[in-house]
Amino acid sequence: MSKFYITTAIDYVNQRPHLGTAYEKVGADCMARYKRLSGFDTYFLMGNDEHSTNVEREAVRRGLDPHEYCRQMSEEFQSVWRSLSISYDDFIHTSEKRHIGAVTELFRTIHENGYIYRGSYEGLYCESCEEFISEKDLVDGLCPRHKQEPVKLSEENYFFALSKFERPLLEHIEKNPGFIRPKIRENEVVNVIKGGLEDVSISRSGKSWGIPLPIDESHVIYVWFDALTNYISALGYGGGDAGLFEKYWPADFHVIGKDITRFHCVIWPSMLMAAGVELPESVFAHGFVSLGGEKMSKTRGNILDPAKMAEVFGADGLRYLLLREVPFDRDGDISVEILLNRYNADLANELGNLFSRTTVMITKYFEGNLSERTFDSGSEMYGDLMKAVEGYRGHMERMEFSRALGSYWTAVQRANRFIEEKKPWELAKDPKRKEDLEQVFTELLAVLVTSGVVLSPFMPGAMAAMLAHLGLDPLGLHDVPPARVGATGLEPPEPLFPRIQIEPDKLFED
Ligand SMILES: [Zn+2]
Repeated sequence: MSKFYITTAIDYVNQRPHLGTAYEKVGADCMARYKRLSGFDTYFLMGNDEHSTNVEREAVRRGLDPHEYCRQMSEEFQSVWRSLSISYDDFIHTSEKRHIGAVTELFRTIHENGYIYRGSYEGLYCESCEEFISEKDLVDGLCPRHKQEPVKLSEENYFFALSKFERPLLEHIEKNPGFIRPKIRENEVVNVIKGGLEDVSISRSGKSWGIPLPIDESHVIYVWFDALTNYISALGYGGGDAGLFEKYWPADFHVIGKDITRFHCVIWPSMLMAAGVELPESVFAHGFVSLGGEKMSKTRGNILDPAKMAEVFGADGLRYLLLREVPFDRDGDISVEILLNRYNADLANELGNLFSRTTVMITKYFEGNLSERTFDSGSEMYGDLMKAVEGYRGHMERMEFSRALGSYWTAVQRANRFIEEKKPWELAKDPKRKEDLEQVFTELLAVLVTSGVVLSPFMPGAMAAMLAHLGLDPLGLHDVPPARVGATGLEPPEPLFPRIQIEPDKLFED
């Protein structure tokens, strides 16, 4: 069985997960589920990034030991992820023993290979980024990410010889066109590398919350070097469960936000090369979600709360809306009105109705029992359904979720039109046309079964419920379109996606 290893960025625990964070996890989860559905032995990793000065500061402010604070935040994060049906196989914390062991081992290996040296450094440092920032990256004298003035800092530090990897990185990117996706991010990264890479500081002195350097205990490992290592520490690199590392590394996809490509496409692959570890297959940088054309922020008071949104739309509804409205490979804008309209149009009206009309009519015209019949290429819906599934698959492989849904939705809409054209309520009046009536519902059932499978990465709960109502166990992608379909003892269902009206306030962070 082929393997598939997918990861998301690990999150800083000094604030609750927001919609942007949720968007990334939902996208990665959709991909993980799609691969499982396609028969891949899939491993999906998420986690929290805990060794930052901000975390330590926040713990102190709350009068907690950092470990206890991180444990509480982990519970909070994971409860949000559960409410969104995120199906990670492992959740790593960077203050865990297994992670510390792996970071220590990676550091030692890179040091032994001659890419780490001691030196002094003076530069501008952004306290929120927790890294040195070069003069040329400042905008009006401020860190562009935090709009904050950097401080001058001088340190005796350990450095990673990043400058040695300019050539090898460019060669790797050139030889592996899918390494950085989408293409626009590849271009940005290539420009950064061509602009010249400077060695980076990878340690801080005088800190206690962090991983001590194996060669100098008065320093801890700089947070980014520490955090990036999670992708291999979770697999047991450096002494843990080596079986996982051998089985799943290299990662097939690191899914990250477009603001951290430099770390994932420049520093991380250089670290791996320096340690003699294989590079990931691909880094996918998704875009950002804005609300009504504005960035969501505390000061604007317009932060959508993913947990509250899941209460209103359901986990399935929210997942669908995010991945349908915001193309994963670039930025997208949403509004409460857009989400509501989309939910009611696509889910309540089109898919929900297709399911309820079909089952209601089968109970009415056949008392819920439709004898099994073949759904083959001669069927009227067959060609359109096949085309929709093929389009879906092509887009899914490239993580183009919105386009995958757009492609598949043509089949849902076609099936609704098919009902209008065939007018089963008229066929049912004529006993001589029983055969035709059966054929109509065979085709409609085939579309529903197929929908239940191909849409399950987006809406795992609702699609499992739909298949269960039709009397089917979970199916794989190779089972659709089904060769034969029928129904026994079918009953009218509860609405799969009840129509929603909401007060928009209910969706925002307090
Ligand atoms: Zn900053």
